[in-house]
Amino acid sequence: MENKNHAPAAEHETQQAPNLVAQDLHIHTTYSSGDSAVLPQQTVAFVARFRHARILGISDHVEYLTGKTFTRYEREVRSHGLLVGTEVNGAEWTSEAAQLEFDYYIYHCRDRREDYLGAEELLSTDKPVILAHPMVLDTNLDKVPPRCLIEINNRYIWRDDWRARLSPYRDRFRFVIGSDAHQPHWLNQNIARRVAAELGVEETLLFPATVLSRV
Ligand SMILES: [Zn+2]
Ligand SMILES: [Zn+2]
Repeated sequence: MENKNHAPAAEHETQQAPNLVAQDLHIHTTYSSGDSAVLPQQTVAFVARFRHARILGISDHVEYLTGKTFTRYEREVRSHGLLVGTEVNGAEWTSEAAQLEFDYYIYHCRDRREDYLGAEELLSTDKPVILAHPMVLDTNLDKVPPRCLIEINNRYIWRDDWRARLSPYRDRFRFVIGSDAHQPHWLNQNIARRVAAELGVEETLLFPATVLSRV
């Protein structure tokens, strides 16, 4: 009892936050300017203020982050203390993405030889490479390098027979849970967390906490 009373206020508040999840690295913002699912209210500042995860990163599509935009994106995301990620749409974008200073990659790996090679190219940066929604992309997980992580994605996981498709790979890969939020009310992982629990896979946390308290 006494300990509880002496806990720092900020920490106490964080622990009490009902929707604070451990990690969310798959989040889009208005930087994904050509993605029609993104709402104008879904800014980096909004995600930073909402702070729904202890480990929090933004992962806009790399095709909208080239040139000077990358500098602006990196500066803005870091200014909020968040991790700087990106979502990479197949082998066509891996070289571009590997050259930019991202903390991690969310990767679209379709069932194509060049996309499996693209995964290797991203892994060569030594940054985490997370396979986004592999079932939607028909990724053949037997061909994916085991150093990649597999995402259980709140937006898509329920669309397929996840039990049959992912159970065989429980020991081959490490798993992460992501929202793939494009809109404020998508900033949650309720379905994905239930699936992970039912599959019996443990979530891998890739970074130290970025969110220590709510502001
Ligand atoms: Zn995607
Ligand atoms: Zn996405």
